[in-house]
Amino acid sequence: MHIAIIGNGISGITAARFIRKLSDHRITVISAETDHFFSRTALMYIYMGHMRFEDTKPYEDWFWAKNRIDLLRAYVERIDPDQKQLELRDRAPLPYDKLIIACGSTPNKFGWPGQDLDGVHGMYSFQDLEAMERHSPGLQRAVIVGGGLIGIEMAEMFHSRHIPVTFLVREPSYWNGVLPAEESQMVNRHIRENHIDLRLATELREIVDDGQGKAGAGIPGLGVRFLCGFGGRPAGVRPNISFLEGSGIETQRGILVDEHLRTSVPDIYAIGDCAQARAPRPGRRPIEAIWYTGRMMGETVAYNICDRAQSYDPGIWFNSAKFFEIEYQVYGNVQARPPENHASIYWEHSDGRRSIRIIYDRETLTILGFNLMGVRYRHEVCEKWLRDQAHVEEVLQNLSLANFDPEFYSEYEAKVIASYNQQTGKQLRLRQKRRLDSVLRFLRGATTIS
Ligand SMILES: Cc1cc2nc3c(=O)[nH]c(=O)nc-3n(C[C@H](O)[C@H](O)[C@H](O)COP(=O)(O)OP(=O)(O)OC[C@H]3O[C@@H](n4cnc5c(N)ncnc54)[C@H](O)[C@@H]3O)c2cc1C
Repeated sequence: MHIAIIGNGISGITAARFIRKLSDHRITVISAETDHFFSRTALMYIYMGHMRFEDTKPYEDWFWAKNRIDLLRAYVERIDPDQKQLELRDRAPLPYDKLIIACGSTPNKFGWPGQDLDGVHGMYSFQDLEAMERHSPGLQRAVIVGGGLIGIEMAEMFHSRHIPVTFLVREPSYWNGVLPAEESQMVNRHIRENHIDLRLATELREIVDDGQGKAGAGIPGLGVRFLCGFGGRPAGVRPNISFLEGSGIETQRGILVDEHLRTSVPDIYAIGDCAQARAPRPGRRPIEAIWYTGRMMGETVAYNICDRAQSYDPGIWFNSAKFFEIEYQVYGNVQARPPENHASIYWEHSDGRRSIRIIYDRETLTILGFNLMGVRYRHEVCEKWLRDQAHVEEVLQNLSLANFDPEFYSEYEAKVIASYNQQTGKQLRLRQKRRLDSVLRFLRGATTIS
């Protein structure tokens, strides 16, 4: 059996690796972007000089031949499910028995005049990184349009090379559709502390030609004019599915898949950023464009293709990022605009760069989520509390178990408990300081710690 995979990102490559572990099928991975798999999340560190491109490749170049995974650098123009073949640009068609589409995302465009000028780029692909490199020497100013995680990364990238940055965010506060108000404001402050010209509640109207077909000035709704030579367009991403038109594969925003990651067409599967769950699990979104869910889908699809039926289970929601120097972690259900039943305990350090938020259900008092800024908690511990639907007071009294590494991170648990006591009038106390043996015992199954 020949399995073709479109896309050599985390989802396609995980699928290929697991199919190889489970079977002897012939595997071909096709990608137009690069010869080899690399870590997209590390693109910024190449620009900032922390890593070379070579260092972002998790596998040696010989790994693929050794594991009999054929790599094909080509662009798939069309899928022909009747003939079971892929039509490739400037190459002969490639037949397949089963097909996995793992074609990722593409940056959004909003129809701004000038959005296709030279010097206006999204930040998604290796080619986008090359464009940033090309435009950086002598740049007077970069204008980044659109908040979110990629926008702030672009700001940090230019900032690392001392290129002045103006950052236009349409909303009144950075990423306020995802971050609760206090955390969003913390990031606003931190962006400005880094000397980024952050313009909130500001919409781009037009990008003006400098007379030579290059981005010359961004003109936001407020009528301000900026000199610039680069317009970053990181205003979110969407599934990269335009080449599927006419294939008969059912799509909405993404490629619709069932719990086994099957599309509407037999023998064709879709995974990663481009897949849209027909029936997402409670509390989960139909499209989750993040690294670890791509990896999980890659593994699940491999089992399904190798006749070991498995439903896709994304587990407890988790995400992490960095806003300049502030690390961010979220576990479970933390919403920017919480529903009625969500109660929240919030503690913020006086330096305004660290905070802990714990969400629980107002009626059942079960734990729902953690939102951490500048403080790192243990993934396994938070996940276990959430999976076990632990009582909020049980969590609070044992909060030191979650503290990742008190050797390097200070402990703020007592302060979080004090916030809860103040809110509720209770007299809760921390049961003990964190000790590694307690953490291990807890993870092995003891629900309370002695
Ligand atoms: C700058 C940046 C930073 C990020 N940081 C984080 C982070 O910190 N944490 C996190 O969880 N997520 C992060 N993400 C998101 C994460 O990288 C993606 O969710 C993940 O890479 C998606 O993997 P994928 O395999 O689905 O698709 P992709 O990695 O997009 O791979 C798809 C591949 O398919 C190729 N392709 C598409 N169509 C065709 C075609 N027709 N023919 C041939 N080849 C094709 C593409 O060129 C691409 O190489 C970040 C993304 C970006 C852009």
